Amino acid sequence: MRQYNASKKVLVTGGAGFLGSHLCDRLIAQGHDVLCVDNFFTGTKRNIEHLLGHPRFELMRHDVTFPLYVEVDEIFNLACPASPIHYQHDPVQTTKTSVHGAINMLGLAKRVRAKILQASTSEVYGDPEIHPQVEAYWGRVNPIGLRSCYDEGKRCAETLFFDYHRQHKLRIKVVRIFNTYGPRMHMNDGRVVSNFIVQALKGEDITIYGDGQQTRSFCYVDDLVEAMLRMMATGDEVPGPINIGNPGEFSMLELANKVIELTGSRSQLMRMPLPADDPKQRRPDISLAQQELDGWAPKTQLEEGLKKTIAYFDKALSESTSD
Ligand code: NAD
Ligand code: UDP
Ligand code: UDP
Repeated sequence: MRQYNASKKVLVTGGAGFLGSHLCDRLIAQGHDVLCVDNFFTGTKRNIEHLLGHPRFELMRHDVTFPLYVEVDEIFNLACPASPIHYQHDPVQTTKTSVHGAINMLGLAKRVRAKILQASTSEVYGDPEIHPQVEAYWGRVNPIGLRSCYDEGKRCAETLFFDYHRQHKLRIKVVRIFNTYGPRMHMNDGRVVSNFIVQALKGEDITIYGDGQQTRSFCYVDDLVEAMLRMMATGDEVPGPINIGNPGEFSMLELANKVIELTGSRSQLMRMPLPADDPKQRRPDISLAQQELDGWAPKTQLEEGLKKTIAYFDKALSESTSD
């Protein structure tokens, strides 16, 4: 395993978001110079305020759909809204962010010969016919539905990454991220973990979409960031795509009951309609990640990760009511 310790100039797009801010923390802790680029569509300065003023941290407000001329050694391309509410708010901008953003970051990587990692997603598998999902599966995605701006945008970004790799010999890394949760998720972004925790803490009804039997696999943010760093440190023979996530699989009913138990809440379950194109099941096959990322496997069990996330939201809620 190559060590990720020599100091580098690292660009993180979407660095003020949930995953990006944790990644910036780790990169700074490892001694790198970090340039965080974000247009603050879903990210916030609050996520990185503890890094502002750090001599090796720089923040730039910029939209990746426009060209960016900077000098860096490595690029983590995370810019893109990730929750359905946000990415469906302005779907054309979502596709532009994935596609034009990828072109610009790949053009930048080509000019400065930087290594570049794409934060792709399990959504490229759509509503999958095979379970668990392996990287060789091509997916089942509706090209014209409400989720398509995100799914197809990310699929096109993967295409661009592999074409720049073949055509321009770019050093690329593509990771397909499965549902990830943890502190600094947005409180109101509609994702299931944040929704359930906030509802439970407020004593509101917990909204179960459909019959609640649909499944997801939830990875704690620290495990995910570790995998991204290990992926960036792999040799040029490992472009991906590689699934990263936690293979523990839970139905939404199981998740709701777990959150109620851990918060001690008296919230009741409330049924709501299932959104269109909502995948019925999802679980990563992480054999490839274990093989290529030096035996990486998620360490944080759902209960432990939920406790940390509940503590974060509890504090955030009490701060927002005292504002
Ligand atoms: P997030 O919404 O918290 O972060 C995305 C960041 O990108 C935000 O800070 C936002 O302001 C920024 N951004 C959006 N459009 C931009 C643009 N045009 N120019 C510059 N910045 C822009 O979401 P996240 O959960 O941290 O996701 C980060 C990345 O990981 C995304 O690319 C997402 O698709 C991917 N991903 C996340 C998950 C997950 O479960 N969290 C799962 C699969 C993939
Ligand atoms: N680009 C960028 N920063 C750079 C170099 C390129 O943002 O440092 C953008 C530029 O706007 C271009 C895109 O990346 O449109 C793709 O670059 P590439 O060199 O692949 O293509 P071309 O410039 O020939 O269109
Ligand atoms: N979901 C739910 N209640 C909520 C929010 C989401 O039952 O309040 C369900 C949603 O229908 C989906 C799953 O939880 O089946 C995960 O949703 P999320 O938006 O977090 O992620 P994605 O669908 O993108 O995997």
